[in-house]
Amino acid sequence: MTKEDEKVIPVRVVMRCRPLVSKEINEGCQCCLTFVPGEPQVIVGNDKAFTYDYVFDPTTEQEEVFNTAVSPLLSGLFRGYNATVLAYGQTGSGKTFSMGGTYTSEQENESTVGVIPRVIRRIFQEKSKCADCEFLLVVSYLEIYNEEILDLLCTSKDKPIISIREDPKDGIKIVGLTEKEVFTAHEMVGCLELGNSARTVGSTAMNAASSRSHAIFTISLEQRRKGDKSDVMVSKLHLVDLAGSERQKKTKAEGDRLKEGISINRGLLSLGNVISALGDESKKGSFVPYRDSKLTRLLQDSLGGNSHTLMIACVSPADSNIEETINTLRYADRARKIKNNLFGVLGLLGAFQITMEQINEKLQSKLEELRQHAEMCADPQAKDSPEAYTAQHALRQAQMSKELIELNNVLALKEAFVKKMCQNDHHLEPMQTEYQENIQSLQASVGSLQKEKEDLIQALQSAKKDTNQAKLSEQRRKRLQELEGQITELKKKLQDQSKLLKLKESSVRSLAKLNQEIQAMKSQRVQLMRQMKEDSEKFRLWKQKKDKEVLQLKEKDRKRQYEMLKLERDFQKQASVLRRKTEEAAAANKRLKDALQKRSEVAEKRKEVQNRGAEGVSSRIKNWLLNEVEVLVSTEEARRHLQDLLEDRKMLAEEISQLRQQMEAGERPVAKVRRRTLTIAELEGQGELEASISKQVESLETEMGLRSAQIADLQQKVLDADNDGRIKQRWDSITTIVEAKSALKILMAEVVASKVANAKLESELKQEKANLLDMQKILCDERKLMSSMDMEHQSQLVEMEQRHQEKVCFHKRQYLAEMQLFENLESEGAKKYKY
Ligand code: ADP
Ligand code: MG
Repeated sequence: MTKEDEKVIPVRVVMRCRPLVSKEINEGCQCCLTFVPGEPQVIVGNDKAFTYDYVFDPTTEQEEVFNTAVSPLLSGLFRGYNATVLAYGQTGSGKTFSMGGTYTSEQENESTVGVIPRVIRRIFQEKSKCADCEFLLVVSYLEIYNEEILDLLCTSKDKPIISIREDPKDGIKIVGLTEKEVFTAHEMVGCLELGNSARTVGSTAMNAASSRSHAIFTISLEQRRKGDKSDVMVSKLHLVDLAGSERQKKTKAEGDRLKEGISINRGLLSLGNVISALGDESKKGSFVPYRDSKLTRLLQDSLGGNSHTLMIACVSPADSNIEETINTLRYADRARKIKNNLFGVLGLLGAFQITMEQINEKLQSKLEELRQHAEMCADPQAKDSPEAYTAQHALRQAQMSKELIELNNVLALKEAFVKKMCQNDHHLEPMQTEYQENIQSLQASVGSLQKEKEDLIQALQSAKKDTNQAKLSEQRRKRLQELEGQITELKKKLQDQSKLLKLKESSVRSLAKLNQEIQAMKSQRVQLMRQMKEDSEKFRLWKQKKDKEVLQLKEKDRKRQYEMLKLERDFQKQASVLRRKTEEAAAANKRLKDALQKRSEVAEKRKEVQNRGAEGVSSRIKNWLLNEVEVLVSTEEARRHLQDLLEDRKMLAEEISQLRQQMEAGERPVAKVRRRTLTIAELEGQGELEASISKQVESLETEMGLRSAQIADLQQKVLDADNDGRIKQRWDSITTIVEAKSALKILMAEVVASKVANAKLESELKQEKANLLDMQKILCDERKLMSSMDMEHQSQLVEMEQRHQEKVCFHKRQYLAEMQLFENLESEGAKKYKY
């Protein structure tokens, strides 16, 4: 900074624009500021350009702000110049962020650290460089709220009363304020943290108050050359986080509309006046109104004169904040008059083009994403479908009935066999006893024959000795031969009979075995039949459940369709409301335009009339006044519509993001459960739904784009109408008492007329409201009736369907049983015939 600069520019003004915060992005806000590359210039809307010492766009880092704007002040401080850094702007524009008003030591090494911690670091760096000097560093931290000073470093409960005193030698003195001597950067940062936390506590307790208070962190620096007691240099640095500059919201309910509209924070008002007085070459040497507020009084010895002042005008880039942003830019402009030009418009156009291309690219990639998503969704997985289950069941049943039939066949065969055997047995039984008896008698006869034989043999042997008996011997020999033949025959018979008996025994054994087998098969059959029954019962239950589910799904589908229809209707309704609002906004726009046009016509005419000599003061004043009122009213109307449009856009943005989320999650808005049992029809429904969602998103986006364009247009008009100059000129028209009286009369008549009209409208409104209430009640009753009827109908439908299903099942079972019986009979008949 050269000596020349210091004289010419006591106040430096920089503008800093923060990035869009996520809330603004979510609400669909657009950036309404354009930065001219390489120029300290910002353009609002289409053509309003402002130029400052520096303009920091949203990408600017804290370090750059510090190095470019604040650092030169610190060099001055060490040379004995007082300095002040002020952060100005509406609440939420980044004042505290820029100043470092939320700093805690944990953030020490972060790049987001603001001005104050950086200043502290630099001061101690500089101090360590000057080995031949002694330093005394004192800090204080205070807050001004409602023209009252609060000590942020005083932790005790009963704080002393603080007052400002002006000392001709020492300058401004604040009596009762904590002034803490510090020796290290750590200590000084500690003071900052302490005060910040005191401020934060306050802000949670009374949020509105914190944004309406000024916070001042002051560092006093006393430098003394070692060994030279007289060589003392004192300088002061104020770091100020100003109150939010926004106009207080007009609340009709409190009736204080006018008062609140005017009461901008007194500190900010007088600061503006002071700075403008300091910056205005033509007012050099004239009175500077420091005493109008505590803020300016406190800063008095650090504003103007030998002091350096830096104002950081903080703004939001969002179009929803455009009016406050313009106010901030005007305020800052007043502080630092630099001729504006539209240098670099070509560069600007280039920038626009780049932005458009970027947007285009983004849209393309989004489109591609959506396309891929849609493809993925079109490929349903048809696993575990109810159709497959039904087929499986039929197969199982067929298998089992085949088994059953085979089993029955075998069983019948075996049973028939056993029966036959039993019949044979019956015949065999008497034969058996007969045989047994036979055997006994045969054995007895064999025995007696044997005995006879032996006797005969003996007789023969004795007869050998007696020749007389030769004839008898011959007879006996014959008899013996006979006997032997009989015995052999009998033995053979005996053998046959015992063989038969053995055969009989084995047949009994096999019969027993057969019977066992038959038993086993019968139990197997029972089991199989039970299994079949169970299976078919299970299937019946499953089917019943499925049918019910299908019914429910159908019902749901119906509901969903209804919901979709409703959504569509709501959407249409909303769209028509939006359209109406848009039309209204357009009408307001036109009205404002007409009023402005008329105003200039009136001004022209007035000149003529004045030239022709005063002819009818009253009509002239009336013309002028009514037109002025019209301008004001239509400006306010336009503002209201602007607010409406901003709200609309916010709503649209919310809706879009909700729909997008739904689409990205791939979820159906209704009935998210039971994805596994989705039928094909439903899957198709999903695709349909998705298409309808993306259609909605598309049209919502178009709507949003429209809103943004309208917002920009209306804002431009309002800005034109609300021009500084016009506001000032407004009362220049009334120059005489006669004119004033006539104006008052006209105003009076207007007020009375509008009040009467208002009262009439209100009573009409009341009547309409009552009508509306009646209609709503009727509608509500009708709806209730409808829904109860609908419910009844549905339940009847379900019941009927169930009953029908049950009947079908019953008939099916009966048919199966009959078939079975028939088959059994048939096979049995066949077997009988065979045997
Ligand atoms: P103010 O003090 O003016 O009311 P803040 O400093 O509290 O505003 O800023 C409002 C919000 O914006 C905060 O969340 C803050 O972190 C953020 N912010 C402000 N300026 C910037 C910036 N330059 N870069 C990133 N975020 C910022
Ligand atoms: Mg703040």
